[in-house]
Amino acid sequence: MNIRRAALISGLLFLLAAAAAATGGLHADAVAAAPAPQAGNFVLVMHGGAGNYDPKATEQLEARRAAITRAMEAGRAILAGGGKSLDAVEAALRVMEDSGAFDAGRGAYYTRDGVPELDASIMDGRTLAAGAVASVRHIANPISLARMVMERTRHVLLVGPGAEEFARAQGVELVAPYYFFNEREWKRFQDRRAREAQKPASALPEEKFFGTTGAVALDQAGNLAAGTTTGGTSYKMPGRVGDSPLIGAGTYANNESCAVSGTGEGEFFIRNVVAADICERVKYLHVPLDQAANEVVMKELKEQHGDGGVIALDRQGRVATPFNTSGMMHAVLRGNGQITIEVFKP
Ligand code: ASP
Repeated sequence: MNIRRAALISGLLFLLAAAAAATGGLHADAVAAAPAPQAGNFVLVMHGGAGNYDPKATEQLEARRAAITRAMEAGRAILAGGGKSLDAVEAALRVMEDSGAFDAGRGAYYTRDGVPELDASIMDGRTLAAGAVASVRHIANPISLARMVMERTRHVLLVGPGAEEFARAQGVELVAPYYFFNEREWKRFQDRRAREAQKPASALPEEKFFGTTGAVALDQAGNLAAGTTTGGTSYKMPGRVGDSPLIGAGTYANNESCAVSGTGEGEFFIRNVVAADICERVKYLHVPLDQAANEVVMKELKEQHGDGGVIALDRQGRVATPFNTSGMMHAVLRGNGQITIEVFKP
């Protein structure tokens, strides 16, 4: 090869390398598809449980609407100030736990023993770090304990007394079960117990009302997070763990695909690994978020009579909220826009 030719080739190679560096090379498409982080460009989506909502139970609906609005505002304050999606998810879900209006924290459903047992999880879509607690009886804000598991241990999930011992060691106050006393749920528990005294449990209709709460958020830096907190299904067996604290089943977040929080009959969400399935469809099949979420909730789950719904969000700010029950309270907020709250299908 003569010197002129060699110089020409190396010149061409240099130009190609410079062009690749400028566009991100082979990743140009992926980079172009990611959102450009912008001030005011954030999204927060929450749910307050799927189920057969009674449109006439206006008082309960109003209490739930008021609580989810406060929770959304708590999340907005963080996201609007440039805060992290993880912080927004935790703060918003703490408001839900404290409200007593949902099946979480102070409003948790009772187990057959008459004592609520709480489950929660949280996941960071940027790092895939995750934390969860299950079957805790003395923790006022399980979502925050889940975050401590994520940030202060090498583990993902702590359950029961071990989780509470960890809480104590972290300086979290353990509350008496009476802290969770909730007249509405206590009455429902007593009513169910009275009916079971007359008929075997198998002869009684399944309760199809869920009040779990969850949140997914996209912050101004373009990072996703998801969290879910619950008292589980009503009148569950003590020790029963649902999908909510199981990463991949009830909660999942990955910047490469999406963030999901589910609500419904947890056993189906566990068997179908619902939250991760939706995100993996986005990642590997390259289907749009709403198609992935709809196929899982409205087809797979529905065919199995798995009642429930999800909230899902991707890095482009696209939102999907499918549910196969008569209702699912869910709220959406984009930037500094209005909070929209829906319960039933339009
Ligand atoms: N998925 C929750 C569970 O099975 C219940 C709910 O969504 O309300 O524990």
